[in-house]
Formats: sequence, C-alpha cells, structure tokens
Amino acid sequence: MNLHEYQGKQILNSFGVDIQRGIVAQTADEAVEAAKKLTEETGTGWHVIKAQVHAGGRGKGGGVKLAKNLDEVKELAGQIIGMNLITPQTSAEGKKVHQVLIAEDVYYPGENEPEEYYMSVLLNRATGRNMIMYSTEGGMDIETVAEETPHLIFTEEIDPATGLLPFQARRIAFNLGLSGVAFKGMVKFVNALYTAYVKSDSSLFEINPVLKTSDDKVIAVDAKVTLDGNALYRHKDYLEMRDKREENPVEVEAGEVGLNYVDLDGNVGCMVNGAGLAMATMDLIKQAGGEPANFLDVGGTADAERVETAFNLILKDPNVKAILVNIFGGIVRCDRVAQGIVDAYKNMGTINVPIIVRLQGTNADIAKELIDNSGLDVQSAIEFQEAADKVQAVLA
Ligand code: GDP
Ligand code: MN
Repeated sequence: MNLHEYQGKQILNSFGVDIQRGIVAQTADEAVEAAKKLTEETGTGWHVIKAQVHAGGRGKGGGVKLAKNLDEVKELAGQIIGMNLITPQTSAEGKKVHQVLIAEDVYYPGENEPEEYYMSVLLNRATGRNMIMYSTEGGMDIETVAEETPHLIFTEEIDPATGLLPFQARRIAFNLGLSGVAFKGMVKFVNALYTAYVKSDSSLFEINPVLKTSDDKVIAVDAKVTLDGNALYRHKDYLEMRDKREENPVEVEAGEVGLNYVDLDGNVGCMVNGAGLAMATMDLIKQAGGEPANFLDVGGTADAERVETAFNLILKDPNVKAILVNIFGGIVRCDRVAQGIVDAYKNMGTINVPIIVRLQGTNADIAKELIDNSGLDVQSAIEFQEAADKVQAVLA
C-alpha cells in the first residue's frame, strides 16, 4: 500500500526520524491557517506548498512551490489544489491533486550550504536481505545517477540476525562525506530510519532528499513509503491511511468483491482461476499476438455470480477486444463453470467482444457441449493451443 508524503513522514517521525515539519490542507484557506501555525512552531515565515499525490517528480511537474508570505501561500495552494499534476512518474493524463502539504522551508541560508542526499531502505531480493541504498547525489532522479554515475551509489546490506550494526551507520555517514555534528546526526537518522522500516513492516522507504541543513541538522524532506499489504493486519492504525482516490478504480472494486485484478495495457481481457495459470494465460495471449489487458484470478469458486462480476470488471476497460476465459476444473467442475458463464452471459444481455472459453479438467467435455449448445456467441476450446489460435483469429 502506497502512502502520501505527509503520511510517510508521520510514520518516520513516530520512530524518531527528524523530518521537515508540515500540516496537510484541503483548501487554500486551510493552507493559510497551516502556515500560520507552522510559523508559530518553527519561527520561519517561508513555506513550501507540496502536492500530495502518489507519484514522485512533483517538483519537476510544478507540484512543489516556495511561498515567502501568507498571500503567496494562499495563491500557490489555490493553484496546486485541484490541478492535474503531470510528472515523469504519472501517466500522460496526470493525477488530480486533492490536498497539499504546507511545510516549513528548510533550505534557509546559514554557515554552510544545505546539502541533499539520497537514501532508501528496501529488500534486496537477490540476497533476501534488507539494504540501505544511498548517494551523495540527492534531490535529482536516482535513475539518472544509477545510469550515468553508478559509482556514486552505495549500499549497506543488513544481516537479519544482528540488525543494523553501529559501524554500518557510521560508514554511511562517512561515505556521505560528513563530519562533526552532521556525522552524528546522520548516524542517528540512519538508525531511526532503519528501525522505522522494520517496525512498520514496510517494503520501501525512499527519502529523496535527505537534507543536511545550513546549521548541520539531518532531516527527511521527502518520503515515499510503501507498506507491505500482507502485514497491515498488524497495523490497524495504518489502514486508515489508504487513499482509494489514488488507486485504479477497477482494482479497488475488484478488491472489494475479493477478486485479484491488476489492470494492464493490452487488448485481451482474461479470466482465470489460479495465479500460476493466469501467468501462463498471459504468455499464451502474447504468443497469439495479443497483449493481456489485465491479470484476473477469480479463485476457486467460479460460480455464475462471480463470473458475471469478473466479466463486468473486464468490460470496463475500453481497450478490450476479446476475452479469454481459461479455467482448470480441479476442485470446481468444468460444467458448473460453463453453466456459470452461460448464465452470466444471458444475464448481461449483449457483450460486444468475442469470448473464447477454454475449460480443462473434470467434466471438460460436458462443459464444451454446454457452451457449444448455448446458442451464444462464445467459442469453446479444450486445448491450450486451440484457445490461442482462436484468440489469434478474432484479433486478426
Ligand atoms: P518530488 O519532486 O516529488 O521528489 O518532491 P520533493 O519533496 O523531493 O521536493 C522537490 C524539491 O523541492 C526538492 O528536491 C527541493 O529542491 C525542493 N524543496 C523541498 N522542500 C523545500 C524547502 O523547504 N525549501 C526550498 N527552497 N526548496 C524545497
Ligand atoms: Mn523527492
């Protein structure tokens, strides 16, 4: 589950990570109130207005702006709230901004120049260990740094038996070129950050930039946090942080009825029972010259109601030119699924895309007969290849 920057910062702060302080606002007036309150707390009259959407690169898209007085806070918050923010990480249509974070300006001048670093904590799947990835080149695209100057990206792997060791946190501060107060601040920051990552059951923390302020404080200016959805039952308070407006509406609807649905870019919708078979079916579609429009696992109980719900979800995607149903009748009997498909089809009236149904397993032959004799515009298949050929034929 992805979080907004302000929510990620809340979690970080609850584990003792120092952050750029801020207050979230839904309207320009609330933004002004937030700025006043922050000025009381921090003493600074300058604020940054930051669009809260589930996408990075907001600065580049005009979603992060500096306001030097309350009039500017009001004006800029008014501009950003409601705007359609397009960043390198959103689709071409962009994302609607519903709220902004009013944050204290932390790039104030002082003895030293403020410095930006990159830091993330994530799982290294190759070694099965958590790692901290960091770089002196913060603030910009880490992808570009990785491509052009990969030697400026460092990693620190953590042994699960010992956790993060003191020398590792010190090595990070050292490699970032820090000394004195900032060195100590970074060591504390890294320790708190790693604790937060582990205790919150996150799968990603990305802090870009981590800022060394002009007076040598080390703070998180940005926070991209992904919580492990399978561990949310242990964190009831984080469940409330879900913002469904940021998610694909069809995926949200599918989740509510217990279907595993992932929206994809292709033209062939697929309905399958079992995740492994769903993956194989996507390959099959590619082989037949199509592109899967979705991943959809209807699970073990493919009755008429479930099949109908699944059809409805798939058909919400205007790019779907054909639907391939691929069901293996292991626990569920194929004839029951076939009856479900026929009933669902009749219930829905007209479906304007060709449907190919492949049923294999218990009572597959009875199922094929049921489909073939239904008088509906549904083609049946028993073999994988036969289904692929039929998909190819309807796409041609
Ligand atoms: P992102 O573009 O979505 O990654 O959003 P960030 O939170 O990383 O902010 C983008 C950029 O805004 C940062 O890299 C900074 O350069 C700038 N920025 C963020 N906070 C402040 C601030 O307090 N003062 C100033 N002057 N700039 C800031
Ligand atoms: Mn950032």
